[in-house]
Amino acid sequence: MSIRLGIIGGGAAGLFAACQLKRLKEGSDIEVTVIDRNPVPGKKLILTGHGRCNITNRKDASVLKKCYHEAEKFIYPALKEFGPEDTMAFVENELGLKLKEEENNRIFPVCDSAVRVRDAVVCYITDTTEILRETKVTNIRKADDFEVITDKGTCHFDQVILSCGGNSFTHTGSSGDSYKFAKRLGHTVNPVKAALAPVRADESSASLCQRLSGVSLNTRVSVFSEDKKISSFEGDTLFADFGLTGPAPMEISREIPSDVTGKKVCLELDLVPSMSDEAFDSELQELIGAHSDTKIVTLLSRYVPSSVASEIAHLADSADMYAQGFPKDRRKKICRLMKHLHIGIDRAPDLEKAYVTRGGVSLNEVDRKTMESKIVPGLYIIGEALDIDGISGGYNLQACMGEAYLAAKEIIKRSLS
Ligand SMILES: Cc1cc2nc3c(=O)[nH]c(=O)nc-3n(C[C@H](O)[C@H](O)[C@H](O)COP(=O)(O)OP(=O)(O)OC[C@H]3O[C@@H](n4cnc5c(N)ncnc54)[C@H](O)[C@@H]3O)c2cc1C
Repeated sequence: MSIRLGIIGGGAAGLFAACQLKRLKEGSDIEVTVIDRNPVPGKKLILTGHGRCNITNRKDASVLKKCYHEAEKFIYPALKEFGPEDTMAFVENELGLKLKEEENNRIFPVCDSAVRVRDAVVCYITDTTEILRETKVTNIRKADDFEVITDKGTCHFDQVILSCGGNSFTHTGSSGDSYKFAKRLGHTVNPVKAALAPVRADESSASLCQRLSGVSLNTRVSVFSEDKKISSFEGDTLFADFGLTGPAPMEISREIPSDVTGKKVCLELDLVPSMSDEAFDSELQELIGAHSDTKIVTLLSRYVPSSVASEIAHLADSADMYAQGFPKDRRKKICRLMKHLHIGIDRAPDLEKAYVTRGGVSLNEVDRKTMESKIVPGLYIIGEALDIDGISGGYNLQACMGEAYLAAKEIIKRSLS
């Protein structure tokens, strides 16, 4: 059976789907059209991995799935059927880009260029795919077939892959249209918010963050709302002029409540995550006893960068104090600050600055084995349009790859039946 397939959105997910259709389509008759609003598709793809494209993460699917939070169960078939090893084989053998593995199993192209990954993907599909560039889709309607209305006219397709992405870094083209179209087609869209985003400090903590701007250290970061711990994550934290960024705050940002108005919300930093409160207190007590002629700030510098040590000593009113005769209540105060440093938050992380959008099309309404909508037959939904956000480290592009594979496989199966 001949199929006219429209891929709405030529970002990572849409382009990967076009690649899989080319790779798998032998013997089938599928006319593939990718529609993207930008002159060149894959505009967000070229920003990935700080311009180097962290394309996947070499872990087994059973471990990998845990990195997708609430979507763990949903994403498993995609990771199992087209996992990191498949992604790597595809990029190396089909796209012709050699890959390398870095810290924490993160996979990058040897050329360190996301632009080259994007270009290789676009080049790979040119002979099998029509790309409608600078074409903005304004609506998708389902009647006998799919009517895709654009600013340049209407296209008709038998099947559609919806891959317009999330709602962040909107200059790349991902401005939440996936959600608008999915809603109009009858889908439930779960509320969207920032994930993997920097965190802005409130006025009470802003000056501390400013003074420490540029300093990075390993911490355990916990989100607290109304004194209740919501979640925590250990990793590097980077102080910035506006607040906190780096792996740990960004990873935890998805847990910050959307509405913080009138609430007591903060990020708590444990600056010595390898020790319990008691162990740290008793070690500090020993150090104080053994180094009476040493300044407290010098002792703290054994655990944290000296600029952080002086801020802590200052906050505990101990800036110029020596270990000799150091009062117990000050030591306790220092321990509290080192283990429970609070950075106040008075607004939710900015969605525009989020690397990924949390929320999106409800996973209950999509078949996890085929990516087909359970509401609209012939509609497939992949990528950030779905309510899936992975942690940082190549997981989000890997999700796009796996989902693209499942959708392509199903579309081809249908065309052959
Ligand atoms: C700065 C940054 C760095 C990142 N680094 C990594 C990384 O290293 N590894 C990783 O795994 N993930 C990374 N991510 C996340 C990853 O880029 C996304 O998860 C992924 O791009 C999502 O793919 P998508 O196709 O669903 O959406 P997108 O890539 O956003 O693509 C959506 C496409 O749809 C098009 N579109 C939208 N609306 C319309 C419309 N109405 N009409 C026509 N076209 C439309 C857009 O132009 C866009 O091209 C990063 C994200 C950012 C912002």
